Amino acid sequence: MSQHLVLNRTGDKMPLVGFGCWKVDPQDAEDTIYNAIKAGVRLIDGAGDYGNEIEVGRGINKAINEGVVKREELFVVTKIWNTFHAKENVRPTFEKQLKDLGLDYVDLYLIHFPVPLKHVAIEAAYPPGWYQPGKSDDIEFERSPIQDLWREMEKIAESGAAKNIGISNFNVQLILDLLTYANIKPAVLQVELHPYLQQTRLVEWVQKQGIQVTAYSSFGPASFIQLTDDGKTAEPLLGHPVIKEIAEKHGKSTAQVLLRWSLERNVAVIPKSMNVERTKSNLDIFSFSLSKDEVAAIGKLELGLRFNDPFSYGFGLPLFC
Ligand code: NAD
Repeated sequence: MSQHLVLNRTGDKMPLVGFGCWKVDPQDAEDTIYNAIKAGVRLIDGAGDYGNEIEVGRGINKAINEGVVKREELFVVTKIWNTFHAKENVRPTFEKQLKDLGLDYVDLYLIHFPVPLKHVAIEAAYPPGWYQPGKSDDIEFERSPIQDLWREMEKIAESGAAKNIGISNFNVQLILDLLTYANIKPAVLQVELHPYLQQTRLVEWVQKQGIQVTAYSSFGPASFIQLTDDGKTAEPLLGHPVIKEIAEKHGKSTAQVLLRWSLERNVAVIPKSMNVERTKSNLDIFSFSLSKDEVAAIGKLELGLRFNDPFSYGFGLPLFC
């Protein structure tokens, strides 16, 4: 099996397995990223919102400067945050992110959420998160259409400063609309995907449009508290008996089975771990494959259970309904 996905427009090869930078403490980020690259990671998934881009960039640059890897062998992804959607804020924000990363270009720039929030000046708070500085009672929207934002993203892509552009947390309605005006089609859609939230129709339709899909939170509840807003609970996927049985059969870990499950759908994965041995094992998912029966058994675990849901973050935004 190929170890990458080919992106539309540029033909760039995006590694099927990467490393996610969410919740990597800035104190640890430089070493963590450097060691991940040394361990073989070639795709780094970051975001302005993760609050660690300076340190992630240091880790990347250390690896390049020490000859562990060449820049062109890495695939660096970052995302524009919700408070920077207005057309006049897009390029300056992107430039700040490039500077923080210490890079001349990124390989993929994503819209983090289709949620236009009132602008927060970089000098006032960075990264600002969901709320306006000093307020935490409700979020405030801004009248900035995705179309304007996408035009600015296209300009960044045309300049070569982001080789590819894409979207995250978009649903089919929004993608349909975006495709009516896009001069540059999104290269990638990044969404939450794991056996408890398989989104098969979304994945298949998006792939049919020539847009590649990346799964985030492949381990489901491992990255979140296990009690969702509506009181549903779910047992950890990493210890689930169905996943365990499949893992034992292949002599692999449950984490490897969960990541491989995405690969079976031609979906890329970006697991996060602070433990380099786990990072190494998360990369080692090309030496086995899941049978049709195993994929079907995992298919039965669907719960429609979404963990990264703004509705449950205290401001009641039913983004995914
Ligand atoms: P994840 O599914 O990668 O799970 C991380 C958890 O799994 C951590 O607690 C880690 O210790 C554990 N883990 C990792 N490897 C393991 C292994 N081999 N064995 C056992 N445990 C292991 O969670 P995530 O961080 O939510 O998602 C991955 C990445 O996706 C993020 O870091 C981020 O880059 C991206 N992401 C994007 C969005 C978005 O809105 N676009 C949202 C969430 C995450």
